[in-house]
Amino acid sequence: MNAHSNPIASVPPGASPHADGGRLELVGLRRAFGSYTALDGIDLSVERGEFIALLGPSGCGKSTALNCIAGLLPLTGGEIRLDGRAIHELEPEKRGFGMVFQSYALFPHLTIRRNVGFGLAMQGVPRAEADARIDAALDLVRLRSQADKLPGQLSGGQQQRVAIARAIVIRPPVVLMDEPLSNLDAKLRLEMRAEIRAIHEAIGSTTIYVTHDQDEALSLADRIVVMANGVIRQVGTPEDLYERPSQIDVADFMGFRTRIPARVVDGEGHVEAVGARLRLPPARGSVPGSAVWISVRPEDLVAGGSEGIEAEVRSIEYRGRAWFGSGTLADGTLVFFRSDASLANGAKVRLGFDPARTLVFPREDA
Ligand code: ATP
Repeated sequence: MNAHSNPIASVPPGASPHADGGRLELVGLRRAFGSYTALDGIDLSVERGEFIALLGPSGCGKSTALNCIAGLLPLTGGEIRLDGRAIHELEPEKRGFGMVFQSYALFPHLTIRRNVGFGLAMQGVPRAEADARIDAALDLVRLRSQADKLPGQLSGGQQQRVAIARAIVIRPPVVLMDEPLSNLDAKLRLEMRAEIRAIHEAIGSTTIYVTHDQDEALSLADRIVVMANGVIRQVGTPEDLYERPSQIDVADFMGFRTRIPARVVDGEGHVEAVGARLRLPPARGSVPGSAVWISVRPEDLVAGGSEGIEAEVRSIEYRGRAWFGSGTLADGTLVFFRSDASLANGAKVRLGFDPARTLVFPREDA
């Protein structure tokens, strides 16, 4: 391989061009667009071979962060290090990262084999070695038999697998993926999810995966980074994020749809909320009288018991196994709940909390 005559091969000194991963450090990453700050100081250390999901609502800065790591967007502050070396001033090709986007971005007039081999041809990898690597990459995404077709002759899911093969054939230390499954239907998304995780494990590269879909992040990632407004709100394992979001906005994003204002009564976990007295896990650092939010998922707020908080049903729908509904409390607070039976709109129901699955957060605006 002639590593000096072509851009993709010339990965930074110290960075492994092989698929044994790369340790990536983001230090105070900033990116502004004019007066708008899209990334406001992102600090994150990613271990070799780790699968990281960047998760957050639309506009929170996930794609901007990924594009900065890729080198497609220059930073306005901070540093990016790969295996200890600063790489943020290198051109994208010189970082040697594999990239997979929502749009497959394949060359329509080149066969699958030539699409996958494009980066290797640019690197001047000898033909026999390139062929073997292309075959191995196509085997990994189960498309060897389609190698001589054109992209237009493949389904969307197959085209995305070609894009993945093209990204990994260069043996990148880091693979960057931006919502790669958004253009696929629900069933294919599930299948590809499992495939992406299997490929990640097979090649051992570090993967940074942008998504706004919490299920995707939970099922794929070793660690999830939840972002909002250009900053990191929480970093943790899928279990941490699902069970123990540390802040109310992260909880909202992780599916705790109902947020009820309440007041702490004592240190035993008793709170008063819209006329009801409930026993819940004590909120961190809250004293009697302090204002809190009760935060709960629809599946853990259940209609029909004798204890809990009274609501009026606004809508209800059957989702297989159970009904899920929305309603309002006496003060107008909107709530989302589960019911084992159908309920009429306008009916009054009592909603019971599962204390082990209900979170209580300090409420600063009261
Ligand atoms: P989505 O899931 O919708 O893609 P995101 O979390 O990836 O959202 P970004 O695309 O990173 O968000 O955008 C973050 C913010 O930066 C947004 O408010 C966006 O409008 C702004 N932004 C992104 N690119 C530019 C640009 N080229 N010029 C101006 N503003 C931009």
